[in-house]
Amino acid sequence: MFDTSALAISKRTILIHSLSLRCKNHKRDPSTCSTKNMNTSLMLFSPLITTPSIFPLPKTHHNTTSFPSSRKQHQGRIHSTTKFENFLDLKSEYQPEPLVFDLPWHHTSDHSHFDVIIVGAGPAGIRLVEQVSLYGMKVCCVDPNPLSIWPNNYGVWSDEFEGFGLEDCLDKTWPMASIYIDDNKTKYLDRCYGRVNKRKLKEKLVKSCVLNGVRFYKAKAMQIEHHEFESVVVCDDGVELKGSLVVDASGFRSNFIEYDDHKVKNYGFQIAYGVLAEVDAHPYDLDKVVLMDWRDSHLRDGNSKSYTFMYAMPISSNLIFLEETSLVSRPAMSHMDVKRRMVARLRHLGINVKRVLQDEKGLIPMGGPLPRIPQNVIAFGANSGVVHPSTGFMMARTMTLAPIVAAAINEGLGSTRMIRGKQIYANVWNSMWPIESRVAREYYTFGMETLLKLDLKETRHFFDAFFKLKPYYMQGFLSSSLTLNDLVWMSMSLFAHTSNQSRFAIARKCPELLAKMMVNISLEFIK
Ligand SMILES: Cc1cc2nc3c(=O)[nH]c(=O)nc-3n(C[C@H](O)[C@H](O)[C@H](O)COP(=O)(O)OP(=O)(O)OC[C@H]3O[C@@H](n4cnc5c(N)ncnc54)[C@H](O)[C@@H]3O)c2cc1C
Repeated sequence: MFDTSALAISKRTILIHSLSLRCKNHKRDPSTCSTKNMNTSLMLFSPLITTPSIFPLPKTHHNTTSFPSSRKQHQGRIHSTTKFENFLDLKSEYQPEPLVFDLPWHHTSDHSHFDVIIVGAGPAGIRLVEQVSLYGMKVCCVDPNPLSIWPNNYGVWSDEFEGFGLEDCLDKTWPMASIYIDDNKTKYLDRCYGRVNKRKLKEKLVKSCVLNGVRFYKAKAMQIEHHEFESVVVCDDGVELKGSLVVDASGFRSNFIEYDDHKVKNYGFQIAYGVLAEVDAHPYDLDKVVLMDWRDSHLRDGNSKSYTFMYAMPISSNLIFLEETSLVSRPAMSHMDVKRRMVARLRHLGINVKRVLQDEKGLIPMGGPLPRIPQNVIAFGANSGVVHPSTGFMMARTMTLAPIVAAAINEGLGSTRMIRGKQIYANVWNSMWPIESRVAREYYTFGMETLLKLDLKETRHFFDAFFKLKPYYMQGFLSSSLTLNDLVWMSMSLFAHTSNQSRFAIARKCPELLAKMMVNISLEFIK
């Protein structure tokens, strides 16, 4: 990790422009062109070379230099403006095709009793379906569109995906990450980051499910009823699916999971607006993902009241995923505010969006209470409290937890044991949320609450100090893998590294939060 200067950045900008020119001269697909022109180490990391069609570009454009204007593009444009036009007028062009698979469907005439019914075929649901089915259990996955492509753009640390044997499901990797603390200071993080190839990941997991005999049912779960040793999922078409255990992996908006009445749902919200865009050029290095760009000199009224940063995945010299992000706010910042800030930032950075290939609107509830543990339905994924309270990430955590939860399910329902009802609910919930993890989560949530209290200057000092930590702490924090002991050491180290101003702010603003965390931790121990 090291600091860099504005001069170094502008040199890189020139390099990117020259790469872009070379691409044009060679009349190549831009998604492959940039990687061909990059240094050897990046080429090693970049599966783009062998799989140019993974980006959601219209097929007709794959062999062209840049992206020629199409009828669709003109139809999508509502107003035509100047060079740095308001890209919000551009409509997203990409409609992902669903997977083509001959899924083994559950037939309504079949009155089978399943071992496990999993509601939702999002990344969490389908990963758990796959892991449970490896034990040979009878599994049914119910989702209104089991073969659709997930809508969000996912980024993960590559080492995490390598650990799961899923590294082939990253369609682009960056050897480093950059963090622009402010207009004068940039930090580099020596950790490889990747963009998830959603189609490939889903295809891989679904293929494994099919091989293991999973049944799929295309419907929306409306209600879950419980009897002593059996649960029933009632679908919107009236069909009832019966099983020993129901897992709800239906995402943030789930209605099936219960919370203790006395716990306040005091979530923080991450708000983001992102576009996969074809641009004339952009100033970001092609070998670094931009984790956070906190520069804000482009905002006339500053960025002080509620603030946002840019997260960017530069794919080639003229293809980039850009996401303006409010890290955490309460109440949630409006999407319109985030979009306006993005327009101002892109104009300032000289990024002219020519086409929007895909867009996404993010609202991620973070922190808040855990669901009641245990309860009859098992939550898994976004509704289970695993979203990182300070970053909003959860993809890798879910991939890690799925085999653990599947093993606990197998312990109870597998062929040798016959544990049903309350005991299996408790065992499975505890596999996901053992006491150490619940305590650590209180600490991560304390981190989020602290961020909510800091102003922009203090936030910058906080991140400046955070990215000075030893890689073990920094990476462990980002991957939610630190123990409580580690977290305490990390906090002390963070406090030691940060500025006097930040120390003062934390000492002034956080005692109440600290006390609250200690109470919550004590409550976890006496439950
Ligand atoms: C815009 C955005 C970007 C994100 N980017 C990242 C990232 O880069 N990295 C990261 O780690 N995390 C990221 N996250 C956070 C998190 O990883 C995602 O929200 C992730 O999609 C959650 O996965 P999930 O399977 O739990 O839920 P979902 O992805 O929401 O999937 C839920 C599934 O359940 C189905 N469903 C819903 N209701 C029912 C019902 N009643 N019956 C049957 N099926 C139902 C839905 O159709 C869907 O298929 C992002 C979140 C958002 C919103």
